[in-house]
Amino acid sequence: MKRILIALALVSGLMSAKAQPQPINLIPVPAEYSVRSGPEGRCKSSICSKELACLKEKVRISEKALLRRLGGRNLSDWQLKSAYWIELGKKCVKIVAADEEGVFYARQTLKMMASLDSTPPCCTILDWPRFRYRGLMLDESRHFQGKDFVKKQLEMMALLKMNRFHFHLVDNPGWRVQIDAYPRLTKLTAWRPQAYFWDWEKNEIGGPFVEEGTPGAYGGYYTKQDVADILSFADERHIEVIPEIEMPGHNYETRAAYPELACQLPNGGKDPWELCPGKESTFEFLEKVLLEVFEMFPSQYIHIGGDEARKNNWKICPDCQARMQAEGLKSAEELQSYTIKRMERFAHEHGKRIIGWDEILQGGLAPDATVMSWHGTEAGLQAVREGHDVIFTPTHYYYLDYHQDPAQFRPVGRLVSLEKVYSFEPMAESIPEADAHHVLGVQGNLWTEHVQEAWHAEMMLYPRAFAIAETGWSQAERKNWPDFERRASVLSAVARKWGYTVYPPSPQQ
Ligand SMILES: [Zn+2]
Repeated sequence: MKRILIALALVSGLMSAKAQPQPINLIPVPAEYSVRSGPEGRCKSSICSKELACLKEKVRISEKALLRRLGGRNLSDWQLKSAYWIELGKKCVKIVAADEEGVFYARQTLKMMASLDSTPPCCTILDWPRFRYRGLMLDESRHFQGKDFVKKQLEMMALLKMNRFHFHLVDNPGWRVQIDAYPRLTKLTAWRPQAYFWDWEKNEIGGPFVEEGTPGAYGGYYTKQDVADILSFADERHIEVIPEIEMPGHNYETRAAYPELACQLPNGGKDPWELCPGKESTFEFLEKVLLEVFEMFPSQYIHIGGDEARKNNWKICPDCQARMQAEGLKSAEELQSYTIKRMERFAHEHGKRIIGWDEILQGGLAPDATVMSWHGTEAGLQAVREGHDVIFTPTHYYYLDYHQDPAQFRPVGRLVSLEKVYSFEPMAESIPEADAHHVLGVQGNLWTEHVQEAWHAEMMLYPRAFAIAETGWSQAERKNWPDFERRASVLSAVARKWGYTVYPPSPQQ
C-alpha cells in the first residue's frame, strides 16, 4: 500500500510539474503574465534567436485599447504612459500601449526574453511601473570613465526599465563638463597628476591639479558635443539625464580654478570645500554655470547637491557675516538654506525644479525642492510629511560603492549584498496613502573613491542594479527573493556574455 502511494505521489508530482508554466526569467518581473505550458507553447529557437526580430510584430498605440486590457485596474497617467500589453505567439507578437514609451518597454521585455531564453515561452504580459523614478547615479568626478562607458550602462538601464541617470559631474577631485564662461574648470581642474583618488586626496585634503595637456595627467571632461551625444542616446531609451552641479560644499576644484570664490580669511580658511555665499560673485558664478548646464540638459530637474557643507569658514568670513546680518540669518545652517532657496528661485525662473541631498532640509527646505534621502530613510520621511517629493537612496541599501562580499576587490563600507539591496521597501508603513505620491522612487549611487577601473565600476553596479530596477518597476506583491536570485543569476550570465563585468566576475574576466 505504501509503495502504491509513493508511486501515485511521484506520478502526480510529475503531472503537476508538466502542468506548471515555465518560469519567466524577466527582470524586473512583470505585473501580470500567463505562460502557455508544454513544449507546444514554446517559440521555435530559429524564430527567436535574433531578439524575436523575425516574428511578425503588430503594434497598436491606443489608450482605449490598453484600458480595455487593463480592465478595472486604476493606473496614474504616468503609469499608463509606460504600460504595455504583449501577446507572444509562435509566429507573431502583438503589442498594445497608450504611448511610444509603452511600446519601448514592451520591446525591452521581448529583447530580454529572447536574450535569456533561446526558446521563450508563448505568453501574455500586462505590465506597468510601480514608481516613476528608477535611477542610477554615477560619480565621474573621482574617477572619470567617459562617454562609451556611460552609453554602455544606459543600454543596460534601458533593458532594466530604469529611466533616470543622475550624472555626478563635479566634485572636489575633478570638474567634468565644459563651461564656456569659466574655462579654467576644465583646462585645470579636470586634470590631476595622480590617477587613483586616494593617492591624490590625502587626509581629506585634496591634492594638486595640472594644466590640460600635461604629460601623464589623469582626468577628462565632457565637451558640449559629448553631452549632446549622450543625451540623444539616453533619449532614444526613454532615460532622463539629470546633471548634478554641487553647491555650496564639495567645491575644492572650483576654488582651485577660481580662488576668488572662496571666503577670504586672514589664515586662508580651515576648510577648502566651500564656496563663499557672502559674495555676489559666487551667485554670479553659479548662475552662469547653471545657464550653460540648462542649455545642455533639457531635464525637468537639476541636482544642486547641497550636502556636507562644513560651514566653519562662514562663521568667521566677513562677507558671510555681512550677508547673514543683511538677510536676518541666525546660523550657518540658515545661510546654507538661503543659498539653496536663492538657487531654487533661479532654477524656477528657467523652468527647472531642484533636487538636493537630504542636508537641504537643514535650516528650512526650499519650497519646491525634491529630497534625495541618503542618511537612512528618516530625512525622506520627514520631507514627505512636509509635503515634498522624495527619492530614496539610503546608504545601507543603495550605496553601490559599499562591498558585496568582504573578500571582494577593495572592500569598503558596510556589507550591501544583493539580498540586502533587494530587501529595501521605499513605501514605509508610516506614509499615509494620501502622501504616497510624494515617493517618486529609488536610486542606486555608485560613488567612486575606491573605484578606478571600468570593470570595477561595472562589478559594483551589477547585479545590484537588477535589484534596484525590480524594486522601482515591479509591483510589491510580485517581489520574491528566491525567485529573483534565480533570475539574477540567469541575467548575470547573459550580461557577462555581452561584455559586462558582473559580480562575482567569471575567471576569464
Ligand atoms: Zn564667506
